[in-house]
Amino acid sequence: MRLILLGAPGAGKGTQANFIKEKFNIPQISTGDMLRAAIKAGTELGLAAKKVMDAGQLVSDDIIIGLVKERLKETDCANGYLFDGFPRTIAQADAMKDSGVMIDYVLEIDVPDELIVERMSGRRTHAASGRVYHTKFNPPKVDGVDDVTGEPLVQRDDDREETVLKRLAVYHNQTEVLLGYYNKWAQSGLPGAPKYRKISGVGPVEQVRDAAFTALT
Ligand code: ADP
Ligand code: ADP
Ligand code: ADP
Repeated sequence: MRLILLGAPGAGKGTQANFIKEKFNIPQISTGDMLRAAIKAGTELGLAAKKVMDAGQLVSDDIIIGLVKERLKETDCANGYLFDGFPRTIAQADAMKDSGVMIDYVLEIDVPDELIVERMSGRRTHAASGRVYHTKFNPPKVDGVDDVTGEPLVQRDDDREETVLKRLAVYHNQTEVLLGYYNKWAQSGLPGAPKYRKISGVGPVEQVRDAAFTALT
């Protein structure tokens, strides 16, 4: 299974990625998680990326494309892979195309803007694994603590309301165009074209998971 998850920030890509990667036993390639790991490691790249991320903007295409290429080289892709949060621009999608990265499914998770701020403000993350919770909609078993490791959960610096609104604008201006880009490719009937599936991301996490699994068969 080789797939791309598309959707606004907060649509539930990371949440669903966790289900999908387990079901198909594939690596999750999340550029957001990779950038946060670089920040935590205190690398030069991480330092530069943090400023951009906290401003709600996109990290430069060159940096992102370089990171993903490195990651693909060192990852076991025997069963496929799942891209989460990448590509986010036409330049990134074209770079994937030029590298010959094959895709079976493009899965769009659709959530209206009105629901996004509430989702992001309640988001809590286990930094080391990328597991994500919500204080109200998807709470951990014990308040503030990761279910699996028992380690503390954190709130992301870029989940403040004003930054979320900026990120939503960036999504509409730079990323949403990819819905049409991949729809067009899927409908081309060309050899190697992926299947395009759109599901609603509204409703309980398990309901969205079931819709995702159905869409991917
Ligand atoms: P979310 O899960 O809310 O969509 P991500 O974790 O995917 O957020 O991304 C957080 C931030 O990291 C983005 O706002 C952006 O600054 C940066 N980022 C992540 N992936 C990319 C990408 N593919 N291209 C550019 N910037 C990215
Ligand atoms: P153009 O727009 O340059 O005429 P297309 O974008 O329609 O060409 O696609 C040309 C070839 O690239 C086709 O074989 C198509 O299957 C493939 N292709 C299109 N989009 C992608 C993509 N995002 N990733 C990988 N291959 C793609
Ligand atoms: P993305 O990766 O697209 O930014 P996340 O998976 O991190 O989105 O989800 C954003 C927030 O919304 C998290 O706090 C998550 O627990 C919560 N969430 C995810 N799916 C749902 C859902 N179906 N209903 C309500 N909240 C959800």
